[in-house]
Amino acid sequence: MTLRGRLTAAFLAVVLGPVLLSALFVGGTVAAVGRDRAAERLGVAATAVRTSVSSLCQQLQAAADAVAVTTDPARQTEVASQVVARGLASGVVVEGVDGVPTLRTPGSPDRPWADCARPATDAGPFLGLAVRIETRDAAGAPLGAIWATHDLDAGTVGRLAGATGTAVTLLGGAPAGAVHSTESPGALSAVVAAAGSVRGDAVAETSDGRVVRRVGPAPGQPLPLVLSVPTGHLQGLYALLVCAVVLAALCAVGAAWSLARSTTRPLAELAGAADRVAGGDLAARVPLRGHDEVGRLAVAFNRMTRETQAYVRALTTSRDQLRGHLAVLGDTLSSTHDLQRILQVILETAGAATGASGGVVLLLDPATGTLVGQCGLGVEVAGRRVPLGAGLLGGIAATGVPRRGRVDRDGPPLSPFEPTCHTYVAVPFNVSGPATEPVPGVLPPDPPTASGVLALYDRLGSDEFDDADVITLRTFAGQAAVAVDNVRVHQEAQRLSLTDPLTGLWNYRYLKESIRREVERASRFGRMLAVLALDLDRFKEVNDTYGHAAGDAVLVDFARRIRGVVREVDLAFRQGGEEFVVLLPETDAEGAAIVARRLGAAVRDEPFDIDGPRAVDVTVSIGIAVFPGHAATAQAVLDAADDALYAAKAAGRDGFRTAPGGRAERAEIPVAAAAVPPADNQPRAGGGGPIRPAGGASSGTQPPRQTRGG
Ligand code: GH3
Ligand code: MG
Ligand code: MG
Repeated sequence: MTLRGRLTAAFLAVVLGPVLLSALFVGGTVAAVGRDRAAERLGVAATAVRTSVSSLCQQLQAAADAVAVTTDPARQTEVASQVVARGLASGVVVEGVDGVPTLRTPGSPDRPWADCARPATDAGPFLGLAVRIETRDAAGAPLGAIWATHDLDAGTVGRLAGATGTAVTLLGGAPAGAVHSTESPGALSAVVAAAGSVRGDAVAETSDGRVVRRVGPAPGQPLPLVLSVPTGHLQGLYALLVCAVVLAALCAVGAAWSLARSTTRPLAELAGAADRVAGGDLAARVPLRGHDEVGRLAVAFNRMTRETQAYVRALTTSRDQLRGHLAVLGDTLSSTHDLQRILQVILETAGAATGASGGVVLLLDPATGTLVGQCGLGVEVAGRRVPLGAGLLGGIAATGVPRRGRVDRDGPPLSPFEPTCHTYVAVPFNVSGPATEPVPGVLPPDPPTASGVLALYDRLGSDEFDDADVITLRTFAGQAAVAVDNVRVHQEAQRLSLTDPLTGLWNYRYLKESIRREVERASRFGRMLAVLALDLDRFKEVNDTYGHAAGDAVLVDFARRIRGVVREVDLAFRQGGEEFVVLLPETDAEGAAIVARRLGAAVRDEPFDIDGPRAVDVTVSIGIAVFPGHAATAQAVLDAADDALYAAKAAGRDGFRTAPGGRAERAEIPVAAAAVPPADNQPRAGGGGPIRPAGGASSGTQPPRQTRGG
């Protein structure tokens, strides 16, 4: 059964029950009161009937007495006529001793008569009411009897009815019929039947709502009369009651239906909307139908779904954004080894994932012990260098412990070199070094140190970062660590593929690439590029005399001496065998000749140690060509330098030759530096050192230029 059905039934029971009960009560009470009143009326009417019949009997007695005054028949006839004429009796009958009538006034009713002196023993039908007196002569001998009679016609019964105000029925006839009655013919038989069951003062009720009572026969009232009266208004009252109950029932049904509907409809709508929400339709809303409890529930439901919808929308948007960022991150990680770009995308993705408004990535420069800004999100990083251990970020890098919080509450004070913020979350990455508990008696290990820090600032919407953000950021820091490692491995692989394993100088592959790039650069900026081709003299003899290993040692030492002579910006290559090339950017033939002379001296002046105490004298021949003076392309200038080298060999070795021809151009920038050996006199080689953060030294996909160390 539905809630609406239950509510309707309950309302009907509550409303209709009392209505029906009170209707029954009123009906019962009214019926009882009506019957009592009818019985009372019948009682009064019975008294009136007895009085009327009694006075009629007295009247007949007087009439009979008047006739009995004389015994003379003529006189008796005259008196009888007068009595009848005056209406004292309907008729007078004089009987002799033998009972034979001697006088009978015309119009006398026929027998049988009800005798006023004694109650009738039989049921009639009586045609008259009579009083009998016996007559005697002077001696007292009976002479007969005189009857004064009254005609019991419809008029008499009608007058009785008129005197009592009730319907009067004179019983008689076979077997229980009525002689005369003022009762309506339809109700008569029921009244007569009811009269048969009552005695004395009792009343009976007929099925059509009449109350019946018998009056007589009794001494002084010999007539078998029945009085009946309708309870009258009761029928109308019952009809009214039924109408009222039906009306009340209709009203109750209507009210119950509308009440149940107004109560259950919003609930049904709520249930429907909840169903739709459960099915994923967050646009479902409930119409507001009032401000009662259900209305408040509807308002709360609508607010809940609206906020859930907004929340889901925001989540979807941020998921889509994050998905986009992750796609970019994936593309970037797979397509480039540009560390700067990778770190920038990681930072932006981490910012999108946590809702940060700013952020920064710093990498540790081990040489200087500072964290160097690599990229920023809404933060300028150029020139940012945070000393290890200083401020928030320096502390995180020094301890290897992530932190989150508010600057003004959780500290530590920011160093002047790091970005300002209110809230932060920062995690280290590539944490190295032991993080063990200190052991007594053992020197404490170095604290763990990170190779970088990923930090996010000031979450949008002024919320603080939470532990979930720390976890998220650690994930991205892990990616940053992998990216840094990948780039390091990539750079190392690239360096190895471009350097000569024996001498550490750049190899022939890198020579081809470098000379093309340097020629392009010189051409674009209108500068010169000097190319030196070097070949050790009679090296075969060194090999043949001292062995191949000794030859290798000479080659290694030769490379070291080249690095000691050239500038930082110059590039030295081992072309193959004992042939080498040096590129001198922004250098003219004159400057190149100075370098060639220095190289020749560096080889010639000091014998090469080959095996412990043994040393060997070696010389070198050098050919010089200058772009664009001697050739217009990279290959041509290389060939020209080779040709010049042959010329130097042909000229007797241990010297240099410059390619023939060429314009007398000078480098726009003085090349004095080209001849100046580095102050520290350290050899120069093709890379080999650790990755230095951008801003520290070399970086990016560009192969590292020759740097100190290695
Ligand atoms: P020159 O150049 O003065 O004409 O005489 P050379 O003896 O140097 O003649 P050439 O350039 O033709 O000989 C090159 C020699 O260098 C041949 C080989 O024995 C030696 N050589 C080439 N590559 C290596 C190397 O990697 N290690 C060693 N130990 N020797 C090498
Ligand atoms: Mg050679
Ligand atoms: Mg040679």
